[in-house]
Amino acid sequence: MSASFITTVTGEIRAEELGPTLAHEHLYCDLSVDSGKADNRVANVELITDELACFRKAGGHSIVEVTPVGVGRNAGKLREISAASGAQIVSGIAFYDERTYPDWVHRARADEIADYFVSEIEEGTDGVRAGLIGELLSHNSPRANPRSYRLREAERRVFAAAAKAQRRTGVAISTHAALGRAGHAQLDALERSGANLARVIIGHCDAHAHEDIEQDLAYYLPILKRGAYCQFDLIGWSELASDEARSTRIAALARMGFAKKITLATDTCRLSQLHRNGGRGFDYLWTSFLPLLRARGVTEAQIHAMLVEAPRTVLARS
Ligand SMILES: [Zn+2]
Repeated sequence: MSASFITTVTGEIRAEELGPTLAHEHLYCDLSVDSGKADNRVANVELITDELACFRKAGGHSIVEVTPVGVGRNAGKLREISAASGAQIVSGIAFYDERTYPDWVHRARADEIADYFVSEIEEGTDGVRAGLIGELLSHNSPRANPRSYRLREAERRVFAAAAKAQRRTGVAISTHAALGRAGHAQLDALERSGANLARVIIGHCDAHAHEDIEQDLAYYLPILKRGAYCQFDLIGWSELASDEARSTRIAALARMGFAKKITLATDTCRLSQLHRNGGRGFDYLWTSFLPLLRARGVTEAQIHAMLVEAPRTVLARS
């Protein structure tokens, strides 16, 4: 049996080398093309290298960088940041909002888009290969409920392509399911095209929290029961939900035995979120959020499951 490996921007590592991982971040991106906010233009190798020093010091080893094509993805810059900072970086390949798709994607069949994903995973660009598909977006719909949310036609093609590329390569798929509750519809779309849902991460599960935790559990549990991962990747985004609410929900899921199916991150994508600009920085999970989880009874073994085992399991291929 061959050992399992994970593809980083500097080459393959053994899965055991991944270590504590932030599972959804942006180190080099320009989301201003979508948001219109200059704060979303994070394109400075030296600045991010400096910012990652506290992440390494806090105990972080790896970052899953999920900037899609069309909003500033630059695998070569990620390789520079990894080499300079010592952080291992796994780079995603995907497209963002329909408005930011490259022209060819609007005209392409799912099979052609799948070929593109596979070539970025197997050949890469400038010698840098993608290690997963993500973040794979379907449109934000703040008031959507999980039962009525539907993907648009173009999104369905891209999701079908992701499923096909996953079947050919075995990589994980990580989604953007914000700000509504798009996860169930995303899983339906991926499943229809033959994806392995046990290697799918539904992102932004914590984009909002209901007053009644039962309503949130009613969203998470069907995702987990289908074998997919629930990602709490907006930790520290108090404008969307409080970290108290996030930690309560994670603690409840951990008590039900799902720690190995939860991944964590802080979705950094703004200059104002960096320490240099007075923001929380890439060590926030360790300095501010893990203490909240511990206070709610989450054990060290469960934290290890979320920070190390879950990302390793979903990313590793053999
Ligand atoms: Zn993101």
